[in-house]
Amino acid sequence: MKANPKKSTKIHLTSKEKSELLIEGIATVILLILLNLAVYMILIQIIETNRSVDDMLFNIKASIYNTFYSQHSSSLKLPLLIFMMTIDLIVLYWRLIRRYKQMQQRHIISELHYISNGHLDHRIPFELGGDAGRLIDSINVLVDSTVAAIEEERRIEQTKDELITNVSHDIRTPLTSVIGYLGLIEEKQYKSEEDLLKYTHTAYIKSKQMKVLVDDLFEYTKVRQSNSPLNIITFDIQQLIEQLVVDYEWPASQQKMEIDFQSPYEHISMTGDPEKLVRVFDNLLSNALKYGVGGSEIIITIKKTNTDVYISIKNNGPEIPNESLEHLFDRFYRVESSRSKQTGGTGLGLAIAQSIINLHEGSINATSTNGWTSFNIVLPLQLKQKI
Ligand code: ATP
Ligand code: MG
Repeated sequence: MKANPKKSTKIHLTSKEKSELLIEGIATVILLILLNLAVYMILIQIIETNRSVDDMLFNIKASIYNTFYSQHSSSLKLPLLIFMMTIDLIVLYWRLIRRYKQMQQRHIISELHYISNGHLDHRIPFELGGDAGRLIDSINVLVDSTVAAIEEERRIEQTKDELITNVSHDIRTPLTSVIGYLGLIEEKQYKSEEDLLKYTHTAYIKSKQMKVLVDDLFEYTKVRQSNSPLNIITFDIQQLIEQLVVDYEWPASQQKMEIDFQSPYEHISMTGDPEKLVRVFDNLLSNALKYGVGGSEIIITIKKTNTDVYISIKNNGPEIPNESLEHLFDRFYRVESSRSKQTGGTGLGLAIAQSIINLHEGSINATSTNGWTSFNIVLPLQLKQKI
């Protein structure tokens, strides 16, 4: 029917509509002439039959009488004629405008039909004032938000498909190994007990890899469900991090890394789900150890204002390339997949962390410069949602 004109345009009447307007105008003029004549006759009648009416109306009647009968009445007939013609013009204008507005409505309705027939990239292009203009703006805004909702729906659908593809791929690889090794055992294709143990050990390791993936995935989908209930209590975040630091001291020392926890506070009380937040900090610390290869230090700093707490966990070591930083929180994303495969991650840790932080109405970001990779978290001390 029509392309999608981006620019605002005026409504162009079709030749049929123009003829309709012309006919409406002519019909109105004819009606008005007849009406004027009728009024004119009635006035004459009134004046002729009521010449003896009382004194109060005498002057009016006299002037009207003079208007129509006096020899010198042309000067009074003229204003009456002008008055009647003004009224006629107003009526003519009103009727034509009314008909024109009906035509505008028809154009808007036909545009609406065009959009509702699936042309969702089309917008009503007319630039009109008044109510019609506001109506068009509202319709265009409504179409915009409907299109946005549809696109969001499609995006979610596509992400789900990607998720299934990724998961099936990540499960298939270890599963193939497990089946392969168990097959060898089943067919007794091993020479010694040592071989047998090697095969079962590999199958065991691969099965554990699958379990980690499935657990992570379960955790991820659980926190992604918007109605996933947080178990919100009041707790001490300072203590929670101190405990984690203690847990990680030994594995860090094995890697010749030191954990430095810097906090000017003794206690920081906040509301939230400590079990889920532990999951966040645990992943950040294990990442710092796993990927800070060659680094020597992990520094945790904590600061607070009246409303928020700021926690940063940074480690020195290999930097994350700039182009990877924006994808870090995507599911299954791993920088330099070969390096990360050695460390055995699933790439879900940061996606889970971000979802948990979002559930806490906070934010998390990552920076990586001058040999330091830093994860920065802001959390409100008091959650707005009900405890
Ligand atoms: P998972 O945590 O699910 O076991 P993972 O550690 O690979 O797997 P994420 O925690 O989401 O997944 O991390 C994503 C990627 O970000 C990692 O694979 C790694 O490449 C990179 N990364 C994360 N933390 C750091 C860090 N501190 N230094 C360098 N790279 C990092
Ligand atoms: Mg991780």
